[in-house]
Amino acid sequence: MITVIGSINMDIAIQTEIFPKQGETVLGNLFTTIPGGKGANQAVAAARLGSQVQMVGAVGQDAFGKELHGNLINENVHVEGIAKTNSSTGIANILLNDNDNRIIVVPGANFDVDRSLIDQNMDLIKKSSLVMLQLEIPVDTIEYVLGLCEKLSIPILLNPAPAANYKPEWIEKVTYLTPNETECEVIFGADYETVLKQYPNKIIVTLGGDGAAYYDGAHIVKVPGFKTKAVDTTGAGDTFNGAFAHAITEGKSIEESVQFANIAASLSVEKFGAQGGMPSIEKVNERLE
Ligand code: ATP
Repeated sequence: MITVIGSINMDIAIQTEIFPKQGETVLGNLFTTIPGGKGANQAVAAARLGSQVQMVGAVGQDAFGKELHGNLINENVHVEGIAKTNSSTGIANILLNDNDNRIIVVPGANFDVDRSLIDQNMDLIKKSSLVMLQLEIPVDTIEYVLGLCEKLSIPILLNPAPAANYKPEWIEKVTYLTPNETECEVIFGADYETVLKQYPNKIIVTLGGDGAAYYDGAHIVKVPGFKTKAVDTTGAGDTFNGAFAHAITEGKSIEESVQFANIAASLSVEKFGAQGGMPSIEKVNERLE
């Protein structure tokens, strides 16, 4: 069982030609609500590939909360660990035009994912073959889970996004750290090749269309991405993480898992929306052959 402890959001996107100035009202072109949140996205990515996945997180008792809960059930993610709290469901308010975007995230219930919620779900967490974390829930909870998993000898995959919430001392506690190239630079203040060499078989840096890289103790292994025409790269990183988790818990090597994750993520960028393009195992296997 893979356990994702993380965020569940509704992405509220508005496409508009003009952004309003202070005190101004404008007419937009298009409005959509799309399930998101890095935690939920990564859970869905792994579940679509056939992993058993459970989510520990929180939504509010509002309409978005109901919808997101239902979406995870439809995606075969186990939802026993999701609390319904008195906060509003987490949202990302996204304003988009042709060449710019402006985003406000209101974490809401995601900030109710605290130590006591982890304690309430201890029996579920103990069954995990891997715990997946991102940084959209309180830092205190991340610290608590890292300590807990160390005690229980449960491997951890930490996707350090947003990077500003990352703490350097966590590197010793995680099994895999999966920053993108920018996050890697923000966190370690050095180019990614220098960073990788310090942490063999631990850090996997994603490199957009170029794929991903890690250090095997002797060489930097660059696993090239699958060349395709990208339509929307939103959620590419989440698909990569969910797919990597699926492959590594199936017993594949790091290199094989990165290759598998590159293929899954390449399929995800061919469709719109973070969860929209996340592939099934059949689609990935077709492309792997
Ligand atoms: P995002 O924030 O857009 O979800 P990210 O910045 O976290 O993504 P990236 O390094 O951009 O992460 O992409 C993650 C993975 O997605 C890459 O390692 C690669 O496998 C795949 N990928 C991303 N962009 C492309 C692309 N244009 N073509 C093929 N594969 C891609």
